[in-house]
Amino acid sequence: MKLIFLGPPGAGKGTLAVKAVEILGVQQISTGSIFRAAVAAGSPLGLKVKAIMDAGKLVDDETTIALVKERLTQADVQKGYILDGFPRTIPQAQALASFSSVEKVVNFDIPDSGVLERLGGRRVCRMCGYNFHVKFNPPSQEGVCDHCGGEVYIRDDDQPQAIQKRLEVYRAQTEPLIGYYREKGLLVDIDASPMVDEIVVNFKKVMGIK
Ligand code: AMP
Repeated sequence: MKLIFLGPPGAGKGTLAVKAVEILGVQQISTGSIFRAAVAAGSPLGLKVKAIMDAGKLVDDETTIALVKERLTQADVQKGYILDGFPRTIPQAQALASFSSVEKVVNFDIPDSGVLERLGGRRVCRMCGYNFHVKFNPPSQEGVCDHCGGEVYIRDDDQPQAIQKRLEVYRAQTEPLIGYYREKGLLVDIDASPMVDEIVVNFKKVMGIK
């Protein structure tokens, strides 16, 4: 199954993707995680994208498309994948259509108030990328990942100014993808406001999984 998870930052795409990977047996490809790993490694890509990410802006299409195109040539994603955070612009969606055939686009429907609450309390493991939330899903021991023991931190782009910018960028550049994929008959909507277990139920329903 080749899927796109579409929705504003903080809609819970990454959290559901972790569960959906188990349900569907396919790989999650998160462009944000790939960029964060590059920043952490101090690679040329990381040096190029760090300031852009910290400001809540989008990395340029050319760089992002090349990254995903290369990733999709790898053996582990030939049967399927979940694209989490890509495409984020119409040119990215058009490019994707030229090198892969997506079967469904899951649109995470959530109001801005929900996004602000999620992102304001989000904490992320620096090592494995697992998402926690101070209120909804806190780590058992503050600052320590339950899954790998890594450091749990606040992403630089989850600071209030960057959150506002990311929402603006989403509305202007990414939201048009909803219409783009709806027209192609690929879009399914899920209510992303509830807690994750209920979202999993909604996800299975729209995917026709028992
Ligand atoms: P995310 O973890 O998906 O929220 O992504 C974090 C940041 O990585 C974004 O705010 C962008 O700066 C960058 N990024 C991730 N995916 C893309 C994309 N498809 N196009 C451009 N920039 C991206």
